[in-house]
Parts: sequence; structure tokens; C-alpha cells
Amino acid sequence: MTTLAITGGQVLLPDNTVTWADVLVDQDSGEILEVGDDLAGGADDTLDASDSLVTPGFVNGHCHVAMTLLRGHADDKPLDAWLQEDIWPVEAELTADSIRAGTELGVLEMIKSGTTSFADMYFFVPTIADVVDKAGLRARLGHGVISVGKDEDAVHEDAQEGLEVAAEIDGMADGRITSAFMPHSLTTVDGQYLSEYVPEARDLGVPVHYHANETEDEVTPIVENHGVRPLAYAAEKGMLEAEDFFAHGVHVDESEIGLLAEAGTSVIHCPASNMKLASGMAPIQRMLDAGVTVGLGTDGAASNNDLSMLDEARDAAMLGKLAADDASAVPAEAVVTMATQGSADAIGLDTGRIAAGKPADLAVIDLEQPHLTPRHDPVSHLAYAAAASDVRHTVCDGQVLMRDREVLTLDEDAVLSRATEEADALLARADD
Ligand SMILES: [Zn+2]
Repeated sequence: MTTLAITGGQVLLPDNTVTWADVLVDQDSGEILEVGDDLAGGADDTLDASDSLVTPGFVNGHCHVAMTLLRGHADDKPLDAWLQEDIWPVEAELTADSIRAGTELGVLEMIKSGTTSFADMYFFVPTIADVVDKAGLRARLGHGVISVGKDEDAVHEDAQEGLEVAAEIDGMADGRITSAFMPHSLTTVDGQYLSEYVPEARDLGVPVHYHANETEDEVTPIVENHGVRPLAYAAEKGMLEAEDFFAHGVHVDESEIGLLAEAGTSVIHCPASNMKLASGMAPIQRMLDAGVTVGLGTDGAASNNDLSMLDEARDAAMLGKLAADDASAVPAEAVVTMATQGSADAIGLDTGRIAAGKPADLAVIDLEQPHLTPRHDPVSHLAYAAAASDVRHTVCDGQVLMRDREVLTLDEDAVLSRATEEADALLARADD
């Protein structure tokens, strides 16, 4: 057995208490062996965590990772115009090379900000899976299926690709990569295709991941055409099972919150994207009160514009208070839970908790910083004051991905220059 000890720090436990302890990891199984005192003796490798907080690796519950190439390309527009005028025309020009470069950039940013797992909906998924495998992260990946603007044959081809990709990549990278069927949203995929393909995903044994109730414009047409609220419609289409999860849930009413609580379907809250696109304020405290599992996601970098889960946690706490008109709503502990075990539970990964037997997915955060002094409450600092650049070490599946800010699984300079080249080439193609 090869072991790694993370020593001398404070450790965030699953109940959000913080204790002085070492963490001992079995690098062969990728699991945490023990959390306790003086575990460094005899370990094959050590990571110094003095003046630091050891947290679960963050879990980004909803992303489009290769959209890093579109970061800063088009800002300050509402969702519909932004997608149709700025995003979809450029996405039509994506190639496997651009996806590889954008994914490398995104996972580099994730490792540098302490994220160890994510759920991703995009295109050229086998290429994304290959990058995730080599970078050492954990992910649930899928192909985004869209029917709007396509003829019937093209939609069937797209949905088949979604199913085939899900079957192909599930269990890759020693199980670090899992999959889902990912119809883009309840309004961008026509109901007949949902009825046809969701049961096929069920037969395949994969969850369904989609966007829902992001804007009022996604609610009204469903109510008008089907006579029910979007989540009741999702239930009719078989997309409200306990293993399913969807992004946003901004415009949900009490009946829909009740449906989610009953079904066990999870919501991935994306507060930065919701604020930037002025989509609205999700009633997160009401969902938590009802017992809904809520995770946290950055959404794509074009609508955020970074992939830092620490930023997202702060945004979630701030926006949750405004939405509830109550400063005690969505407190620090809630957003820290959402960024770790909430997202992990939502996307169906057994991670997000530091405990013996759990996957060794960890981030070590340097507390010796002006903006993290004094240290009255490390959980408060995680929610409100810590920054991505405070992450010292990142560990996933027992392997050290970043040591003292140096990423070991990717060549950072090469990733940045490839991403810049591919982004320029992509926009040039779209301009032609
Ligand atoms: Zn999204």
C-alpha cells in the first residue's frame, strides 16, 4: 500500500465542524484511511497543511467546461439573445481540437481552485473524457441534446449520440468518469423526443441531467402548451427520478418544490450565471427547508466568468439572503455543504466528505492570508472570504494533482497558449 499523509492542518468534517487532525490516504485504493492525530509516521508521501484548512474537494454540479474558450467573448446580454446571437453561432464552429484546448483550460482552473469533481454537458464528450482522465479529476459527463432548429433525422441522430456516448464513457478512468443522458432543457428539446429517449436512458441505467426553470421564458411556453408547470411536465416525461438533477430552478413555485422534495430530484444552483444573465433569484432557502438536495455549479465560463466554487459559494449565500429578504437565510454552513456533499449527492458521486472509507478528494486552503485573518471561524472564511488562489494542494482519488500551486498533471504554460490559439481560431471561423 502506498500512503499519503496530509499533516498539521485543520480539517473540515462532514457536519461542518473543524478539528485539528491529519488525514491518511491509501493512494492505491484512492480512499481516506483515517482522520486523526499523528498519522504522518511511515507515510510514503506527505503534504504540509500547517496554517491551512483541509476541505473536501469542491464538486461543481453543473458546467460546460470547454466554454472557457468563450470567456469574455460576449457579456451583458439576456439569456435568449446571448445564446442565439453570440454563443450558438460560435459553438457551431467547435472542433475536437477546440474542445480539447477549452477542456484543458477549464480543468486546469478547477484543479487550481480546489475542484476535484464536476458534472458537464457539452459536445465531443469522448475528447472531454480523455482530458479529464489525464488531468486526474472525477466527472459525470454527457452530450447535450437539442432539437430546436433541427430536422427530425438530425434530432434522432443527436439523441442516439447522447445515449451512445453515455454508454461508452460510463466507468472510464477506473470509474472516475461516469455519464448521464443530457437533454439540453425542457424547452429546447421537443416533448416527443423526451418521451422517446428518456426511457432509453433509464434502460441504460444512467441519470438525466438538464436545464429547467432558468427564466420566465422557460416557464410560460410549457404552461401554455401543456397546461402544467415545467417540473410537473418533467415528471410526466419521466425526468424527475431520485438520481436525476437539473441546473437553475430559479422560477419554481411551491407545488414544484413539493414535487422535488417528494421525488428526490436534485437542483444545481448556479447563482453567478443567474445574476449575470438577470435570470432571477432561486428560492434556495425554501428548497432547503422542504428537504430538496441542492448542489452548486458555476455553469459555463461564458456566463460566470470563472469556474471557482469558492466564488460560487459566496454568491449563493449573498443571493440566497436577497431572495429570502432575510440575512439569516442560506448561511455559511449551507453553502459550504452545497459546494461539497450537496453537489456530490446531487450528481450521484460518493465524494464531498472527509471521512474514513470515502474517496480521497481533497483541497488544502492556505489560511495564512490577510483576507483570512483573524480565524474566528474557518467555515465563515470558506463561504465569504477565501479565494481560488488560496488553494495550496489539490488531491483527487488519492493522487496529488497540485502541490504548492504547481499542477502536476497538466503543463500550465502549454495549456494557456493552446487555449488562446484555439479560442482565436474559433472566433475567426465564426466571423467568416
Ligand atoms: Zn448550463
